[in-house]
Amino acid sequence: MPSPKHRSRRMRRVFVRTASRIKLHYRKRKPAKQKCPECGKVLRGATRLRATKLKTVSKTKKIPSRKFPNICSQCSRKKIIEMARGIKLGEQE
Ligand SMILES: [Zn+2]
Repeated sequence: MPSPKHRSRRMRRVFVRTASRIKLHYRKRKPAKQKCPECGKVLRGATRLRATKLKTVSKTKKIPSRKFPNICSQCSRKKIIEMARGIKLGEQE
């Protein structure tokens, strides 16, 4: 029987193969996926890991290297056009 703190699904369960048998280990879950603040889509190419594991990942794998990496590519495209034209897209008459 697992200890009381492991009976909920707060931790994720991982089956680990040892020399004698398969053991059940409990690990912390990954943080939620990063979303675009403008349209709410899940960002692609943005790694979400615990801070201790994120230290081992290279910078190029953490976030895209283009301008406005924290919004999705469609929204960043729109934003660049808006900045160049000096107007807000979708609001002109
Ligand atoms: Zn977006």
